[in-house]
Amino acid sequence: MNQDLISEGQQDNPVAQCPYCNKQLPKFPSRKAACPFCKKIYYVRTDPLSGDKVVLTELQVDENKLAWAKKGYVDEAGDEDLKLIEYGPIDKMIVKAKRAFRDGQKDVAWGIYNKALITPDPTAGMLTGSNFLSSQWRILRPMVIQLMAEDKYSNALSNLIRLMGIEALEFGYNPKNPIQGIAPGTLEIARDAVGWGNITRDKCEQIFDDLKQTVLDNTEKMALNLDKQNGFGIASVQSIDWNILKQQWLSVLYTIN
Ligand SMILES: [Zn+2]
Repeated sequence: MNQDLISEGQQDNPVAQCPYCNKQLPKFPSRKAACPFCKKIYYVRTDPLSGDKVVLTELQVDENKLAWAKKGYVDEAGDEDLKLIEYGPIDKMIVKAKRAFRDGQKDVAWGIYNKALITPDPTAGMLTGSNFLSSQWRILRPMVIQLMAEDKYSNALSNLIRLMGIEALEFGYNPKNPIQGIAPGTLEIARDAVGWGNITRDKCEQIFDDLKQTVLDNTEKMALNLDKQNGFGIASVQSIDWNILKQQWLSVLYTIN
């Protein structure tokens, strides 16, 4: 938001300028109206950082909306969901990472997340492929949120593809329609990452293909092996067709609504 916008919280009798012609408005407006001087329509919104009311142009309303969306990721990245504390060691690590982010120690948070990814989860019960995937999912999701909060959209997208892969393997096994297992929230974050990061369809496809060679294949193999080693006759995880999933992912993300 522009620093020079007069905000309501700054004084007892707040004044506001028209964001178009800069003339002082008769009183601080409470809603959208036409400027008495230039007749243009101004809008009243709350600034996500200061919490003050601000008077904006139509274009600035879009910026304000974006700023609120971004603040959502920052808040979530630092929100130590207390419900997690009562769970196992993985969740305790997630809480610690979120607290570190909130306290401005981003790198500490990353250290904890990366360690969590390779920490076996003893509370997962029997080590099925499905339990393994669900533990990875719980760690990857807050990692994605922190990447969004740090404006690292390519990295966020890469981890979103991992998340999506897990969701498709675990929840959406349908060879013809693997994307049906993907949570709407995951797609929503991916749309933000693609839009805010100006990530092209080609680049997104590249990220997917790079991951597919190693990470996605390994994740699937690991889950299937766990089921096999632990004697699950019917695997808790099914393999999927990554190519179909990629095509569906790209068409969902790059279709103009
Ligand atoms: Zn005006």
